[in-house]
Amino acid sequence: MAKADEFLGKEVSRLKKEHLNWTLRELQSSSKPHAKVDGKDVLMLCTNNYLGFSTHPKIIKAMVDATEKWGAGAGAVPVLSGRTSLQIEFEEKLAKFKEVEATLLCQTGFAVNSGLIPQIVGQGDLVISDQLNHGSIIDGVRLTKADRGIYAHNDMNELEKVLKENKGKHKTTLIITDGVFSMDGDIAPLDEIVKLAEEFNAMVMVDDCHGEGVMGKGKGVVAHFGLQGKVHIEGGSLGKAFGVMGGTIAGSKDLIEFAYNKSRTWLLSTAHPPGMVAACIAAVDVLESEPEHVENLWNNTNYFKKQLDSLGFNTGNSQTPIIPIITGDPGSAQEFGKILMEKENIFVTPIVYPMVAKELSRLRVQMHALLTREDLDKALEAIERIGKKLKVI
Ligand SMILES: *Cc1c(COP(=O)(O)O)cnc(C)c1O
Repeated sequence: MAKADEFLGKEVSRLKKEHLNWTLRELQSSSKPHAKVDGKDVLMLCTNNYLGFSTHPKIIKAMVDATEKWGAGAGAVPVLSGRTSLQIEFEEKLAKFKEVEATLLCQTGFAVNSGLIPQIVGQGDLVISDQLNHGSIIDGVRLTKADRGIYAHNDMNELEKVLKENKGKHKTTLIITDGVFSMDGDIAPLDEIVKLAEEFNAMVMVDDCHGEGVMGKGKGVVAHFGLQGKVHIEGGSLGKAFGVMGGTIAGSKDLIEFAYNKSRTWLLSTAHPPGMVAACIAAVDVLESEPEHVENLWNNTNYFKKQLDSLGFNTGNSQTPIIPIITGDPGSAQEFGKILMEKENIFVTPIVYPMVAKELSRLRVQMHALLTREDLDKALEAIERIGKKLKVI
């Protein structure tokens, strides 16, 4: 008889054989463009810490000071005894910054989706999702008993078709999309989605984890489109451009009150450590008072993408600091990443199935506000050379 846990090793062997396993690197410094990884000084082109806020002195100081004053942990889930004054201050500050009525600080961006989506829609409702939405949205949708519709990535004709086919059949209809798509770096046509939603009386939820701090002068993709007040639910992450950790829900006062009464991840999981909340408050302050970080990020993004395109790389439909270099099969993406790391000391993560379709395997480059022109040119030179050797270009 097979041992009860025998499948574990077998599955890992299969993943390795098909080049679908992860090589876990060890980060031995703070997360920054010149970082130490696996014993080497590398140029890091694969962090979500777009603005360098995880090492911003004001943000670190806020975290340390609050930790000394408030202690290491919040002590409980927010509804029991864990909601600090800092949390309230953060939620009010973020609401003002994002020009919404109210916000809620949640554990993570993932927890926003898995906790809130199943409360918004249930039996008798319909949830319609972009085919390339983030895995945490997919998991949130899996937790609902609602009917489900999927539309091809950013395809508004298909979205309209799903809405038409289902007209009058459901109580609540919810359209969900990533704001910035995490693997392709393109953005959702939110203006068109909102227009269709208004026509069919549907709710709109945008998961803007990669857009917060990046799009719309840092206010996110909804602000980028000037759609404040027209998107019912905005989900965000504080672990990416904000450089800390956490998730956010932004929208109407009714939405926020609904969310903290019903979202199971909010109700059943420990509140943020006070130091982390203080760091998030400081991150909003820095976004407002030091606009140069977002500007630098976009200058680097525009330069790097233009150079990659002119070298003949396939960067898909990237419109943001997420710039994929699509290589094709998983083996070539893994090989490209391995050579860059081992021979050139450049750290870029290969992305393969199930994060993307197998034939769209890629290196996912992410820009950073603190990368210099010299850093970018060094990376471009190496990427060009290896791309030619591997016949990617
Ligand atoms: C990163 C990401 C999440 C998860 O956010 P965390 O705060 O890291 O849990 C959710 N949705 C999207 C679209 C993301 O890119």
